[in-house]
Amino acid sequence: MSGVRTRFAPSPTGRLHLGHAYAALQAHDHARAAGGGFLLRIEDIDGTRSREGFVAGIEEDLAWLGLRWDGPVLRQSTRLAVYEAALAGLRARDLLYPCFCTRADIAASASAPHHGPDGLIYPGTCRHLSAGDVAARIAAGTPHAWRLAMDRAVAQAGALDWTDGIAGPQRADPQAFGDVVLARKDAPASYHLAVTIDDAAQGITDVVRGRDLMRATDIHRLLQALLGLPTPRYRHHPLLLGPDGTRLAKRNGAPALADLRAAGRDGAALADDIRAGRLPIGFAVASAYL
Ligand code: GLU
Repeated sequence: MSGVRTRFAPSPTGRLHLGHAYAALQAHDHARAAGGGFLLRIEDIDGTRSREGFVAGIEEDLAWLGLRWDGPVLRQSTRLAVYEAALAGLRARDLLYPCFCTRADIAASASAPHHGPDGLIYPGTCRHLSAGDVAARIAAGTPHAWRLAMDRAVAQAGALDWTDGIAGPQRADPQAFGDVVLARKDAPASYHLAVTIDDAAQGITDVVRGRDLMRATDIHRLLQALLGLPTPRYRHHPLLLGPDGTRLAKRNGAPALADLRAAGRDGAALADDIRAGRLPIGFAVASAYL
């Protein structure tokens, strides 16, 4: 096996659909074409949305498509202590602060709301709490998230670049996201923190994933710098579009792989059709820069 390693990292919050099949094939084929490894990671730290039944469904659907993964499946829910250790290190460097705001507080406090790639930018309300106030709220058990103090983080990390295999060289602009959440009120780590740590832990050399996560890579690059982790190569593939011209999702009629299977479709033949660009009528791959 060559040194190339990719992964497919779905969240078990529903059945896989045609868009997931496309993404999994992109990651799988990228590795196999180089004689490399393909890994499966289940991103199940969101206890409110993840369902055990969907984990089995993901494995069934991938196997039906004829995709085999190497080694054991990594479950993020088994790695909470690792994420907590990273958070403790960042806290000790004064790069995190607790945030007690609810969604409604954030919406109400943003008098001139600024939007970043992930929606509303946090207006920084909890940055200005006194140390005594913070200690009292934590002692009282008030639920809180932990946010990255973006200005201090960027000052420590300096200018950061990374390269996309399709779009070319990128200058990271994590500030565009504001003070991102690294540990949620209802989940011990955010997607950004867990994905960055696990890509390094699994020795992923090539992160092949959808174009929708292109800007998120700016944050992952920053976290790599702060945590001393290597930077993989990235390849953000175009997304599959539904008949309404928007990104494929269940709501715009993306067929679930389980339904196609139940209807008697052959999974390996479907995978080959997707590879050859023969998609069901109305579905299309977005142009590379959409
Ligand atoms: N778990 C993420 C999702 O299902 C994908 C993460 C990634 O590929 O970085 O959207």
